[in-house]
Amino acid sequence: MMKRSCSLLVATSIDFMKNRHFNCEFCDTMTETGFVEIEVKRQGKDFTSKMKAEICPNCKEEYFDGGKLVEFESNVKKQLAGQKKQAA
Ligand SMILES: [Zn+2]
Repeated sequence: MMKRSCSLLVATSIDFMKNRHFNCEFCDTMTETGFVEIEVKRQGKDFTSKMKAEICPNCKEEYFDGGKLVEFESNVKKQLAGQKKQAA
């Protein structure tokens, strides 16, 4: 099982934008749109972001938009680099 803290997950391979919902890879249940708070640890600091995700109502697997995760990661890197820009 993949957990949210491991940053870049599945959704890069899923056509996230075209198909709003899709069948869960694990149990074949139609996903639902929701928001999930993701958390990454970098250099001893915690960064969180609320992110749109497709969630499987059956097994609770969460699918993120890979592009948004990359954005989040790069924001984290900017913050770590001391640049206080808010790219959101
Ligand atoms: Zn599922």
